[in-house]
Order: sequence, then structure tokens, then C-alpha cells
Amino acid sequence: MTTVDLHARLADLDARIFDAARSVGRDPLELTRIVVTKFHPAELITRLHELGVRDVGESRQQELTAKRDELPNLDGVQWHFVGQIQTKKARAIRAASDCVHSVDRDRLADALHAADPDAPPLDVFLQVNLTDDPGRGGAVPADVSALAEHVAFSCASLRVRGVMAVAPLGVEPADAFARLAEAGASVRRVVPDATWMSAGMSGDFAEAIAAGATHLRIGSAITGPRPVRD
Ligand SMILES: *Cc1c(COP(=O)(O)O)cnc(C)c1O
Repeated sequence: MTTVDLHARLADLDARIFDAARSVGRDPLELTRIVVTKFHPAELITRLHELGVRDVGESRQQELTAKRDELPNLDGVQWHFVGQIQTKKARAIRAASDCVHSVDRDRLADALHAADPDAPPLDVFLQVNLTDDPGRGGAVPADVSALAEHVAFSCASLRVRGVMAVAPLGVEPADAFARLAEAGASVRRVVPDATWMSAGMSGDFAEAIAAGATHLRIGSAITGPRPVRD
């Protein structure tokens, strides 16, 4: 895609976000639009940066680490990690991320904390599994407040900011995000200022905004289709 096309897609998406927010009485300025660049080359991030993008999302540790090594001089970029995390990758994730959206178990939180216990707090979201498949990423909703307690009281170098989810296929996104909002409320009974909600992708950001999302994770609507990977 040419930079002109990329600019047009970004502007179009931002206009749609603006309209979605306004139509439910929300201030578009309270939304953070993260551009998910997974599978695309680092060069795309350079071009997005030139267009003013400062929040970038990745979902694989090796790819994130490689892109950061390739792009040491991008000013002001916040690197969001949005993918599933194997505990053994926690150290590398912590080293390369400004915000982690996918904390879903005590052991992972412990490993992220142990990776840099005296560092300034790392912003984290607690990921909620809204599917019926326990093998998918995320804590089941009933376990989220216990996870919040664990992170808040045992992992001093992590700051619980809110909840995150991917809407399951075959479910109305509005219903899924309403459940996520409930999980967020349960987290706030433990951490009152955990007001963030990471929800909404290319196909469902309007529903997420209506349900209270603060952080949108948008990939293909901006970048076009992802290159195929195995
Ligand atoms: C890839 C990905 C996105 C972006 O998805 P699009 O449908 O391309 O917007 C958002 N969140 C997570 C967790 C992802 O892995």
C-alpha cells in the first residue's frame, strides 16, 4: 500500500471512530487507537509513525523484539503487546513492551513482575475469555477479580489498568462487550482506578465504543490484509 493510501485509510478509520463515539455521547478524545501491525514489516511502522501514529500493537514476542531492534529511533511510540504469552517469554515481553493487554493468570503476572521488579510499573490489562473454550486466552470471567487481587497485591511492578477481550465469533459483539464491561466492574471493586477497557477490532469497534472501550486494537482496517503466515 502506498503511504497516500495508508493515510487515507487511517483518516477514514479515525472518522468512523469519531462518529461511533459521538453517536453514543462519548468524547472521541478519550479513546486510544492502537494500530496492530503484526505480520507486517517494520517499515510499515516507520510509515505509520510519519503519519502520526504513536500506539502500535504486536501479538508475537519474537516479532515485537525484532521490530524494536530494527526501529531504535522512533520517538514517542507506545508498544502494546496484545497476544497470548507463554510464561517463559515474559521477560522478553516485559523488555519490549510499554503496555501488556493479555495478562490472564497469576503465574504470568508473577513472571512479568519478576522480570523487572524494581522498574516503574508496567501498565497491564487483565484479559477475559468470553468464549466457552477454556483453552482460549483470558481468565474466565468468574476468576478475573481474584486475578486482579493477585496482581494488585503481589506484583508491585505491574499496574492493573483494566480489562481486555476479543469478542468470540458467532456472538453479538455488543453482548460480548457487555460481559467484558461487567468483568471490568468486578476488577474495579479491587482496583478502583482500573478504568481502561481494551476492546474493539476492525470489525466491531463501534460496538466496543458503545460498551465503554477506551483502547481500540485496529489492524486490517488500516493496514489492509495481513501477509499470510503459517
Ligand atoms: C490481530 C489482532 C487485532 C486486530 O485485528 P483486526 O481484525 O485486523 O483489526 C486485535 N486484537 C488482537 C488481540 C489481535 O491479535
